[in-house]
Amino acid sequence: MFGIFKKIFGTAQGRLLKKQGRLVKKINQTEKVLQKLSDAEVKAKTAEFRERYAKGETLEDLLVEAYAVVKNVCRRLLGTDVHVSGYDQEWDMVPFDVQLLGAISLHYGSIAEMQTGEGKTLTSSMPLYLNALSGKPVHLVTVNDYLAQRDCEWMGAIFKWLGLRVEALTNEIPPNERKDLYNADIVYGTSSEFGFDYLRDNSMAQSAEEQCQRGHFFSIVDEVDSILIDEARTPLIISGPTNDSKQMYDVLQKSVADVVKVQRDHCGKLVTKARKTLEKLGQISEGDERKKLSKQAQKEANEAFRSLWLVNKGNPHNKVLRRIKENPDLRAEIDKLDVYFYAEPNKEERFKTLAQLYLIVDEKASEYELTDQGIHYWVESIEGTSENDFLMLDLGHEYALVDEISDLDEQGKMQRKVALREEDAKRKERSHNLRQMLRAHLLMEKDVDYIIEQGKIVIIDENTGRPQPGRRFSDGLHQAIEAKEGVKIQGETQTYATITIQNYFRMYDKLAGMTGTAMTEANEFKEIYKLEVMAIPTHRKCIRSDADDEIYMTEREKYNALVTDIQKIHGEDRPILIGTESVEVSEKLARILRQNKLPHTILNAKNHEHEAEIIATAGKPGAITVATNMAGRGTDIKLKEGIAGKGGLHVIGTTRHQSRRIDRQLRGRCARQGDPGTSKFYVSFEDTLMRLFTSPRITMFLQRFRPPEGEPISAKVLNKSIETAQKRVEQRNYTIRKHTLEYDDVMNKQREEIYSFRNEVLHAKDSIPLAEEILEHVCIEMAGEYFVSRSTEEGWNPEGYRQWLVTHFPVTFETKAFDNDYLVVEEIEKLAVDKVLEAFKHKLKHQKNALSEMHKAMNPDSKQEVDADSIMSEVSRSLLIRNIDGRWQEHLLHIDHLRTEVSVRSIGQKDPLLEFKHEAFALFDTLSREIKVEIAHALFKFEMVMPEPQLPKTQTIDLPRSKPKTKSKKTKTERKLLSPLIDLSMLDLE
Ligand code: ADP
Ligand code: MG
Repeated sequence: MFGIFKKIFGTAQGRLLKKQGRLVKKINQTEKVLQKLSDAEVKAKTAEFRERYAKGETLEDLLVEAYAVVKNVCRRLLGTDVHVSGYDQEWDMVPFDVQLLGAISLHYGSIAEMQTGEGKTLTSSMPLYLNALSGKPVHLVTVNDYLAQRDCEWMGAIFKWLGLRVEALTNEIPPNERKDLYNADIVYGTSSEFGFDYLRDNSMAQSAEEQCQRGHFFSIVDEVDSILIDEARTPLIISGPTNDSKQMYDVLQKSVADVVKVQRDHCGKLVTKARKTLEKLGQISEGDERKKLSKQAQKEANEAFRSLWLVNKGNPHNKVLRRIKENPDLRAEIDKLDVYFYAEPNKEERFKTLAQLYLIVDEKASEYELTDQGIHYWVESIEGTSENDFLMLDLGHEYALVDEISDLDEQGKMQRKVALREEDAKRKERSHNLRQMLRAHLLMEKDVDYIIEQGKIVIIDENTGRPQPGRRFSDGLHQAIEAKEGVKIQGETQTYATITIQNYFRMYDKLAGMTGTAMTEANEFKEIYKLEVMAIPTHRKCIRSDADDEIYMTEREKYNALVTDIQKIHGEDRPILIGTESVEVSEKLARILRQNKLPHTILNAKNHEHEAEIIATAGKPGAITVATNMAGRGTDIKLKEGIAGKGGLHVIGTTRHQSRRIDRQLRGRCARQGDPGTSKFYVSFEDTLMRLFTSPRITMFLQRFRPPEGEPISAKVLNKSIETAQKRVEQRNYTIRKHTLEYDDVMNKQREEIYSFRNEVLHAKDSIPLAEEILEHVCIEMAGEYFVSRSTEEGWNPEGYRQWLVTHFPVTFETKAFDNDYLVVEEIEKLAVDKVLEAFKHKLKHQKNALSEMHKAMNPDSKQEVDADSIMSEVSRSLLIRNIDGRWQEHLLHIDHLRTEVSVRSIGQKDPLLEFKHEAFALFDTLSREIKVEIAHALFKFEMVMPEPQLPKTQTIDLPRSKPKTKSKKTKTERKLLSPLIDLSMLDLE
């Protein structure tokens, strides 16, 4: 029975598995005993465990028994009907030993690597149950809403049997039901739902009651690589409309399209001319030897190759160029030039050559650049442009110039400076918009990076091919694409709150994950999340047969071979699953299949809502399913009767993906649970991966071993070099993710600080003492600025401090109140604080009186007194929150700008991250001071006024909301404030 553990003895993992293997044995023994108990006795276990936990036993102490209970419940459920995803399913699962093993790893915070179909859903039920016994929040993260619902219903059979409450948190759950939902023992949901709720709790909620989460104790992330690695590249952002939009994407669109077109035409001419030359010189004849050239002719040919190289830099997708590059000899010539131009001594020559272009596109680094020529064209030939589009102001310098103007009074100077600042902001915005427009045109492709759905640009996750409605490319790129595609440009948005997936999940006390493919990224999991990967053996031996890759020179040949393969397997009546890299490719392949009269189903971002249905039929005889990489994560393809005898599911990869993990995932779709299955990848030298990331040595190799048209190249070196290319890309993507995270880490500290301050305000029973504390703080902090040291005149400024106090607060001090040689700073502070606090008390009293008066006026017959204290507390609470939120949002905007700015500075040999840290810190320092001063200010400014009768009663402080949905029901606090007596419109701010 324990044969599975033997193989892996010896390794460190093996030793751990062995230890855990002993636990498995104990669980099974314990479960045997449970079999003799009545249902009621087993049900009573939950209460017993909880009690023991309360008395000091740890979850580890309870593990064996708790897991045994879950296993036993599964046994008791056998044969009963469970309602899942709309229909009744018979329960037929009792955890296998390997599942117990995975379940143990999960509890100890590892990633359990278990292949597709091994039953991860059931595995996770055990640690979920165990950890929920603590009463603390336990979450299971799924890749989509459908799975959250499905797994919640499915595993709910166990949990409910044991008296636990389990809920699915899907997008449909309205905000006002979420708080209650989070009270469940176990919550299933997607990372977006959990993450956005966290952000909303901390940036939108106006009262403690409005906050829905109750902490972060234990989380298991299903398909952990997909979430912590693929999705981790885009942070979660809550944004909303901004008041002063300066964006000018619509204005810039025509101009950018113009310059892009000029470049395309220019490259088109270059490539046509080059091809003619090469044809004339006999260099482009199919198949044959290339003609030997005279010296003069060679020179001409070289010129042509240079043109081609240039086109490669300016318009890498040019069709003629791609056709030419199908010929390995010609391709080698172009690659050779790359090596030549990037050698240090030829730098100047490279710059000179590239200067002929308008734009330079570096597909590999995903970068681009407008050349001098491009800028010249922009300024001279396009209407409504100017060189100011590229010239930024040096504000410090400009201000100094203004100061020097002698015949201008202070007022006039101020006006000039304001005008300069506006001009500066406008130029920055324009140049930023321009950069994003160029990016949209040069590097973002329709049906690859995004699709257009009902007049909206929808992002497609590049790894899974899943559409991500609701998410937007950040920093204006989304608007730029909207302008490019001519759909409605959404209003400029402003970030209200943001967090990376990484930092969200790091908040959990305990994190665990499961997936079929984690080993290739084990290093990243460890470094970033401190998660170890545990490879769990399969229940039955995997008998999948993986064929070697077939590699072709051209895409054309690749597709021909692919279709032949499909026809053959289809003829055997076996089902086929074909993985493609993008929506575009999936549609292209579908066209080819249609031409060949091969019936098929497409599963891509455009029809993903049928995913479960499509996958459910993908195991039927003769089924052909063309899918993007999303291919049924979480729903597995079960073979229909008789298929196993024919060889099982055949999986075809239409290219190698940039990450090996995604390839492994595709392969793993077949041969589950000991089924037979086969898989094969088809690759061509025109595939992006090969085009961009294989070494030029390969081209040289191909020159020597070019196979005849239609024949695959089979050479072991190629397999190796594909893998090297993949590793290179993986490494690069890892660096990008790490980079995002390094920046977010800076923000994370600030976010934590602000959120905890905000939470203190929200959770304080009475907010007035907090307000007073802030007033005190501000007085003391300002004293620190006016009284540094008595030794210099500027260092000791009693009059300045007095002035500051009387202008900021309704207080008076005698002229020389602080100008006394015997006063120490502490005494000065006390004088100030006492007076300000007294003034505040006075203010409150006054307002409370006003309230009573109004109450009486509006309810002449009422005998009830108004609870003015609690109303004051709520009013001051909203003032605090409103100020914190406003300034924090502004801060986020500054940080966004700072990020763009420092990345430009990297050119000046400075470490952008270091620069960013410094300045972000300084900005935050200013922010924390200014927030307090502003709050102090506001505390003296509000007035309770009579609501205007015609005003609708529902008007509230106009705080931004993330989704319109959030607006729904009024929360308790609001309701209290809106009670017949008071409404927030009574709050008159200035
Ligand atoms: P994974 O998430 O690992 O790909 P699932 O949790 O979706 O796998 O389960 C795959 C299939 O295996 C399901 O149909 C499930 O019913 C079945 N299964 C899982 N565990 C068991 C078990 N212990 N006994 C029988 N069938 C099981
Ligand atoms: Mg699963």
